[in-house]
Amino acid sequence: MENNINYKHSSNRQILIIGGGFAGLEAAIKLRKYKHEVTLISERDYMFVYPISIWIPIGKQSFEDTKLSLSELAKIHGFNLIIDKITKIESKNNTVYSETTTYHFDYLFLAIGMGKVQMKGLNHTHSICGKPEESLIIKDLLDNLLAKGHGHITVGFGGNPKDLTATAVRGGPAFELLFNISVLLKEKKLKDNFTLTFFAPMEEPGKRMGVKAYNKMDIFFKHYKVKTHFGKKIKEFTENAIIFEDDTVLTSDLTLFISGGDGLQLIKDSDLPTNEAGFILINEMCRVEGNPHVYAIGDVAAIIDHPWAAKQGHVAEIMADVATYNFHNSVTHKEKRMSYWERLHLVCVMDSGDGAAFVVRTANKEIMIPLPIIGHWMKKGWGWYYKNSKKKRMLRLPGM
Ligand SMILES: Cc1cc2nc3c(=O)[nH]c(=O)nc-3n(C[C@H](O)[C@H](O)[C@H](O)COP(=O)(O)OP(=O)(O)OC[C@H]3O[C@@H](n4cnc5c(N)ncnc54)[C@H](O)[C@@H]3O)c2cc1C
Repeated sequence: MENNINYKHSSNRQILIIGGGFAGLEAAIKLRKYKHEVTLISERDYMFVYPISIWIPIGKQSFEDTKLSLSELAKIHGFNLIIDKITKIESKNNTVYSETTTYHFDYLFLAIGMGKVQMKGLNHTHSICGKPEESLIIKDLLDNLLAKGHGHITVGFGGNPKDLTATAVRGGPAFELLFNISVLLKEKKLKDNFTLTFFAPMEEPGKRMGVKAYNKMDIFFKHYKVKTHFGKKIKEFTENAIIFEDDTVLTSDLTLFISGGDGLQLIKDSDLPTNEAGFILINEMCRVEGNPHVYAIGDVAAIIDHPWAAKQGHVAEIMADVATYNFHNSVTHKEKRMSYWERLHLVCVMDSGDGAAFVVRTANKEIMIPLPIIGHWMKKGWGWYYKNSKKKRMLRLPGM
C-alpha cells in the first residue's frame, strides 16, 4: 500500500521520523515547536524511559510506569503518529517500507536506536538494555532464584570489536543493576547466600567515566560485596556459566550481560553510509554523510570518538535538538547551524539502590560526586520530571 501521509494541515513538505525513543520523540516535539507538520513512525506504541527501567527487575518500578504513551504525546504536541515497523530503507529514493506500507518522505530523521553484538551462547544471558519486556523476564528469573535462597549472580558488559570507541559500550546500567541487586539481597537478608560477580572483557571497565570515577569503583565493589573478573575475553556463555578465552569458568545461575552496541540489520541492509559496526555516518550537524535530506540521531548514529563520549538519552536529545535546528534553518534559508560536537558531554546519575554517583565528563573536566541516599531520589525525581515535562504538565528546565 502506498502512503502519502495524510496531513492535518496543508504542507507540501513530508517530514518523517522513525523511532519513538529519546531521539525521535524529542525531534517530533522540536519540529512541532518550529511549526512543521511531522509524522513519527514507531514499532511500539510507547516510549520506554530506559534509565528508570533498572528498577523493574528488583520490583521497585512497574513496567507500566516506565512507559509513555506515544498517542497521548502525539495529541499533546500535535504530531502525527503511525505504529508500524519499518523493514526497508531506501534513503536515496526518499522511501521507507514496512511489511504492508510504503512511505515517501522529503526529509527523514532516523532514530531507531541500536542492536547488540551477537556472541556464542548469548541466549543464555539476559540484558537490561534489550527489548523493554526483557526487564520483566529478568525480574521473574531473579525472583525465582531468590525464592530458591542461594546461588551465583553475574552481571557484566562487553564491547564491539568492529567499533572500538567507547560509544559502542553501555556499562552504566550494568553497574546500576548490579548494585541494586546487592541492596535487594541485603534487604532480604540473603547476601551471605549469594555470590554477586561483575565481569567484563576490558582491563579497565568503566574508565570512560573518568579516572576519578574509575578509581572509586573499587570502593563501590567492596561496599556492595561484589567480586570482580576483568580483562579476559569471553569465549561463550552456557546455561550455568561464562567461559573465558583461557577456559576459566565463572559459575552463574543468572547471567545479566549487556553485549556491545551494534548497528541494526535494517541499517546495515540499507543504502545509508555506515561505519564497520553499522552505525550511520553523520556530520557534526547530525546530517547523514552525502544526503542533505536525512538526519540520524541518537544511538543509531556513529558519534564522534572521544574517550569520554557515550551514547546516552541526553545525548540523543541534544542530537535531536541540533538536527531539527539545522533542518529548520536550512529550509527557512537561515545561515546559522549548530554542532552536536560542541554540546557533547557525559552526564549520569549512576544509581546504586541506596544512593548514586553523579558523574560528569567533558574534554576538560571530570567530576564524580558520591551521593548516598539523596542520589537515588535524584534519579527517581528525574524519571518523574522526564515523564511530566514531556506531557507538558510542568515547564522544561533548560538543557534537561
Ligand atoms: C537500562 C538502560 C539505562 C540507561 N540509563 C541511562 C541514563 O541514566 N542516562 C542516559 O542519558 N542514558 C541512559 N541510557 C541510554 C539511553 O536510554 C539511550 O541512549 C537512548 O534510549 C537512545 O535513544 P534513541 O532514541 O536513540 O533509541 P531508543 O530509545 O532505543 O529508541 C528507538 C526507537 O525506535 C523504535 N524502532 C526501532 N526499530 C524500529 C523499526 N524498524 N521501525 C519502527 N520503529 C523502530 C523503537 O521502538 C524505539 O521507539 C540507558 C539505557 C538503558 C538500556
